Amino acid sequence: MTLLTAGLMGCSGGKDGEKAEDQFQWKIDEFADIRILRYQIPDWDSLTLKQKELLYYLGEAALCGRDIMFDQNFKHNLAIRKTLEAIYNGYEGSREVEEWGKFMVYLKRVWFSNGIHHHYSTDKILPDISKEYFAELIGNTPQKFFPKELGDRNEILEKFTPIIFDPAIAAKRVNQQDGVDLITTSANNYYEGVTQKEVEKFYAKMAKPNDPTPISYGLNSKLVKENGVIKEKVWRVDGMYGEAIGRIVYWLEKAAGVAENEHQALIINTLIDYYRTGDLSLFDKYSILWLQDTVSQVDFVNGFIEDYGDPMGIKASWESLVNVKDLESTRRTTLLSENAQWFEDHSPISSEFKKKEVKGISAKVINATTLGGDCYPVTPIGINLPNADWIRKEHGSKSVTIENISYANDRASIGSGFLEEFAWDQAEVELHRKYSLLAGSLHTDLHECLGHGSGQLAPGVAGDELKQYGSPIEESRADLFALYFIMDPKMVELGIMPNLDAAKAEYNSYIRNGIMTQITRIELGKDVEQAHMRNRQLIARWCYEHGKKDNVIEKRIRDGKTYFVINDYDKLRTLFGELLKEIQRVKSTGDFEGAKDLIETYAVKIDYDLHKEVLERFAKLNIAPYAGFVNPKMIPQYDGDTIIDIKLEYPMDYTKQMMEYSENYSYLPIYN
Ligand code: ZN
Repeated sequence: MTLLTAGLMGCSGGKDGEKAEDQFQWKIDEFADIRILRYQIPDWDSLTLKQKELLYYLGEAALCGRDIMFDQNFKHNLAIRKTLEAIYNGYEGSREVEEWGKFMVYLKRVWFSNGIHHHYSTDKILPDISKEYFAELIGNTPQKFFPKELGDRNEILEKFTPIIFDPAIAAKRVNQQDGVDLITTSANNYYEGVTQKEVEKFYAKMAKPNDPTPISYGLNSKLVKENGVIKEKVWRVDGMYGEAIGRIVYWLEKAAGVAENEHQALIINTLIDYYRTGDLSLFDKYSILWLQDTVSQVDFVNGFIEDYGDPMGIKASWESLVNVKDLESTRRTTLLSENAQWFEDHSPISSEFKKKEVKGISAKVINATTLGGDCYPVTPIGINLPNADWIRKEHGSKSVTIENISYANDRASIGSGFLEEFAWDQAEVELHRKYSLLAGSLHTDLHECLGHGSGQLAPGVAGDELKQYGSPIEESRADLFALYFIMDPKMVELGIMPNLDAAKAEYNSYIRNGIMTQITRIELGKDVEQAHMRNRQLIARWCYEHGKKDNVIEKRIRDGKTYFVINDYDKLRTLFGELLKEIQRVKSTGDFEGAKDLIETYAVKIDYDLHKEVLERFAKLNIAPYAGFVNPKMIPQYDGDTIIDIKLEYPMDYTKQMMEYSENYSYLPIYN
């Protein structure tokens, strides 16, 4: 137990560690609102050749699905990306002028977002170049550089100029505005020719009443209306996206051949069967096998998994994350898992919504080795899967905290002045410096391995009743669980935290972020839309309002700058508990109106004056709010046909990696 804490504290930098890191350049590019960072794979050389091979094959499978994500985001994304890349490859005019730089920023943003809509706000990105310059770029790029399917250059110009430049066309990828047709007003490519009503009817008919093991209907298909008939185009080897899925399967087969154990080979082969047939019951089978594997050191996510890109929460984006277990830090999450029942029993939610028996929650700390699809270049720092409620209830779930990504984020942020600007005093800054890495990792552990897995639905509740409010409510639930327990003496007792000061550091940064600093990512006058951001604002704002009479969180002004300062940590913890209880009730009973009321009251609107002030303070710091990562490059070393080693390189050039991926992993036709 002591080792655990010591190991963690070691992460925040012993002398030797700091020296080595100083030589590593974390940030390699910056443009628009984006920073590009690198991440390291620690202890690569201590892996066996077989493990390295497995990571390499799974990594290739992760890269092969990149174009799927582009196409899912918007039907013209691949055509536009390839047009821009043709210009990049072939433009014969000057590349020394300012406009060229602006064109490159647009191309880099399209790569970053896997399409022409902002990855976070989902608004269409408008390029900072004129239509005339776009015409000049196309005109001075020889025809041979453009894909044949797009026709001649005049056709390309005519077709894509409005799609790229007209703000009214395909304005938003995911529209969640209450009261409009969510399907027809969203630009994503999950539906075509159908209305929200038709989608609801189609899937309501499909679901069998009282099915104890319902498949995730619609998860892996596009829903279209052709000749008046509504039908699914399934994503599988001989279906839509088949060319890319076939390549994924090719690499998965190689991976199965070097699996660490038989169970892992079975997992991979079941996934292959699912990709061949598109049969969602096989995906459930794969998910169950996958969550049961807690021994393999190498692991991966690969599939149509998350539904954030669909306002209806039915269709899933393709993603992959290949990883290797961090043995030292995993001891910390194992301790939490082993005590899962204790946490469930002591949770402040109503007993009727508690799990009597918490099953199979496993958690581990991993280091990412390849990011793909919806996980690239923007990646989560924790994952809890599978998503199907019945599997979570019957079989549990698997949680991971992604240590090397958090670590890279933390290292890259040091010295930016961000913390000093928004923290009230030096004591708050120092508390953060001392504990932020540990507290942040612990929050993620609690959120992922206990929070999402806790609680249960009331009988008869299916879990999809909250519709567009489902994601932020679920994220709030997991966050509140983490916030409530991180301040529990149990954490010190288990030897996970040295003292409760680490929890105070987490409370400070959660409130600071939920009310103030996260809105640096949003344009003035706009609402909060992304599920995680909504959940954080909901929690911070709700606690601020409900703690007002006791002055739990105080709004203070100094030199015209606003700060939110916690006066009473214990009372704040009580408020977290109360909100957790209410949110669990909303989720467990499928109370749509309750969810809507909480989200619309606290999570969506931003105080205009505060927003303006925060943006001005942030602008002075000159920091891009979003970060994404380039992947390390794995280079197999051969002796004849045999791989004898795999070397790692940490690329320094974002554009080069994106162009390499576009050249080597483009398997899909431009229109699917
Ligand atoms: Zn979560």
